[in-house]
Amino acid sequence: MRRLFGRISGPIVIERGVELPDLAIENDERGELTWRSIFDTITDLRATHAIPTETFAALVLGEPNERSWFAASAANFEAERSSRDLFLSAEDFSWITPCPREGLLANFVMRRVLRDLLRRGGEHDEQRHREDTGCLLDFCKEKEALSKSLRTGDICRACLTGLREAGADDELLRQVMRISEEIRRASLDAGIYVAAAVIPFAALPFPVAVTRHRVAVERDGLRRFLALLDHFDCLVRYAVVTGHAVRGEQLGLGDRPTSLGSWVQKLADVTSIEGISEVRALIESEKVVKLRNDTKHGYLPAATEDLVPHTELLERVLPQMEHFSFARLRKASASTSTTVLVRRARS
Ligand SMILES: [Zn+2]
Repeated sequence: MRRLFGRISGPIVIERGVELPDLAIENDERGELTWRSIFDTITDLRATHAIPTETFAALVLGEPNERSWFAASAANFEAERSSRDLFLSAEDFSWITPCPREGLLANFVMRRVLRDLLRRGGEHDEQRHREDTGCLLDFCKEKEALSKSLRTGDICRACLTGLREAGADDELLRQVMRISEEIRRASLDAGIYVAAAVIPFAALPFPVAVTRHRVAVERDGLRRFLALLDHFDCLVRYAVVTGHAVRGEQLGLGDRPTSLGSWVQKLADVTSIEGISEVRALIESEKVVKLRNDTKHGYLPAATEDLVPHTELLERVLPQMEHFSFARLRKASASTSTTVLVRRARS
């Protein structure tokens, strides 16, 4: 969640995360965490970790809470308590949505931040959307309604007006909607048939942008296929060089310094780049290095149409490599910190 708000930066910033493995919270007779104990715990944590009152403090819970809410603020429990003391549920909701946990937690944070704003503007009706309109602020009484809300990724007209009247500025709404759009794509039940989102040129580092540009201008056929291979080569080598540079380490490519296979192996050391292990798994499962070596050092198919499946494979893999490897290298621009994440490890 932290990297999502870092990548799509704006007024909401995840300031720090704290692991709290031995946190004691009381259970009720059904074994579910009581709201009173959850919010009392957050009050204590605020003091222990010196979290200012205006900063949101969110406790991530891996176990069911007594009212089965996805997320709530202490003000939902007792009106006089803070609407910035939050819990977020990190239970398994895969029976409702394919959205990964990071996306769900981000969604819950945004809901609570907007609710806090509405509350401060005098709107206390948490259950405004009993009928499940698909709005970000749907109450989702029936748990399945969360899927519709996530797949819509929108804020309804009434809520938008209310939010603006309550002081939501364009920067906040822009960040919320951009993150919601990313979550929406990750929440589609048929999402595997949608190509990975394309990262704009401006977000790519220079060498990678150059090879991507070549891919963009080459028409179908041999030249385009070769441009895709070069782009793959560049993506791998850039990730390895950058990953080692970030940690101040020597490359140490051994006795085969030019072999692409050696560079791909080196990706294993590049733990500083988010999502790099997914990239390696993808490269291996799709046998991209073999394809590149076979066609560059071996034989290219005689007929252009025989290149089509190989081109399609690269077109499927490369945007994901860009997505995993490079977007997250970019640091968030400076902005005001508003959120602290206090995580409770799953017991
Ligand atoms: Zn709404």
